[in-house]
Amino acid sequence: MVLGIILGVVLAGIDGGKDFVIDWVKPWGTIFVNLLKLIAIPLIVASLLKGILDLKDISKFAKIGGRSILMYVGTTIVAITIGLIIVNLVKPGEGISEETIVTMTENYAGDEGVTSKLTTAEEQGASGPLSFIENMVPSNVFEALGDNGNMLQVIFFVIFFGLAMLLVPPEKTTTIKHFFDGLNDVVLKMVDIIMLSAPFAVLALMATVIVSSESWEILEALLYYGLTVIAGLIIMIIFYLVIMWLFTKKNPFWFLKNLAPAQLLAFTTSSSAATLPVTIERVEEHIGVDKEVSSFVLPVGATINMDGTSLYQAVAAVFIAQALMVDLTFMDQLTIIFTALMASIGSAAVPGAGMVMLVIVLQAVGKFTPEQIAIGLTLIFAVDRPLDMLRTTVNVTGDATVSMVVAKSLGKLGDPHPHEVDEYLDNLSHEDDAEERNDE
Ligand code: ASP
Repeated sequence: MVLGIILGVVLAGIDGGKDFVIDWVKPWGTIFVNLLKLIAIPLIVASLLKGILDLKDISKFAKIGGRSILMYVGTTIVAITIGLIIVNLVKPGEGISEETIVTMTENYAGDEGVTSKLTTAEEQGASGPLSFIENMVPSNVFEALGDNGNMLQVIFFVIFFGLAMLLVPPEKTTTIKHFFDGLNDVVLKMVDIIMLSAPFAVLALMATVIVSSESWEILEALLYYGLTVIAGLIIMIIFYLVIMWLFTKKNPFWFLKNLAPAQLLAFTTSSSAATLPVTIERVEEHIGVDKEVSSFVLPVGATINMDGTSLYQAVAAVFIAQALMVDLTFMDQLTIIFTALMASIGSAAVPGAGMVMLVIVLQAVGKFTPEQIAIGLTLIFAVDRPLDMLRTTVNVTGDATVSMVVAKSLGKLGDPHPHEVDEYLDNLSHEDDAEERNDE
């Protein structure tokens, strides 16, 4: 990561350096992220199905589901409240001069990044109140499996399929069960293999982020806003560690050390969805959460539990109001809590999604004109990427924390059992040697 930052800084200062990074370095990062996304769906299907089939009775499933959803909603409300308190105390928007607002707006008016977010938000906002549930039920399972954005549809199908399997005589489902058991192990091994290239990919991703970032002057104008979000996110991480320690009595440093590779990936890729395979591997093998719990809690969490995102949305909404001198009442702030909660559930687990849903939060407050919303978005756009990296790290940490607490409450937090990528390789070569000797 450090080498990537150094490479980015050095090359950004050289003529043609940025193009070099985009042409020759960035693709390696993209390939790595694609590899992770490639195995996300097979892993969710195999791991969730195995988790459900391992449940000896169906009522346990309701317990896992109920507890995790409750904790997801609870932690998100805490995150939004932290965001609101800190932004109201620091008031980062009041220091923004009109001049800065004009320069920012001129710089980014019509910028593709901003306009595409506004259009996407408009499309999403146009859907009805029940569309969230409606969209969860796919009409074609292969279409759902073919699109990483349809994770909830896949989860719905697998749960439905798994529960139906429990109701069929066991001897009829042995083959299916063995098939998915095997698939699960193979895909987890693919995670190990992909992670061998992580150091190089992280270097490539970091260098790309650095050469694509804005100039320091622009970042400086938004320094207090950025620092406010960062302070909120740090408080949130401390909150997780306290919760985790209170419920499981595990050492917070041990937890962070074992989760670190997933957090690092969340930071560099800005996508909880791309990070999911690694989160699952870390939480199951290195932290010891039983598959029955992690296989449901983590994929669902990656899609609907975004505490970092909702904290950011709360801070950003109030910051924009402060900068544009829009007065927000207590009721308006309550509206922000409610809509940011809904928005974090509805945000896709991909880079920049939190900003799209921010538009919906701003619209719900009802005090911003469409022009003001566009100006507000352009204002914070320059620092969105670094903040996205940080909030994604918090999102992933939140999912892992909830899975640990839920597992503990059900007696499903066991001992870690890490697997090495090459642990079976020795056996293989020994077997080969033995065969060769036999042949001789
Ligand atoms: N990038 C975030 C994630 O994947 C979502 C967001 O806040 O934009 O978790």
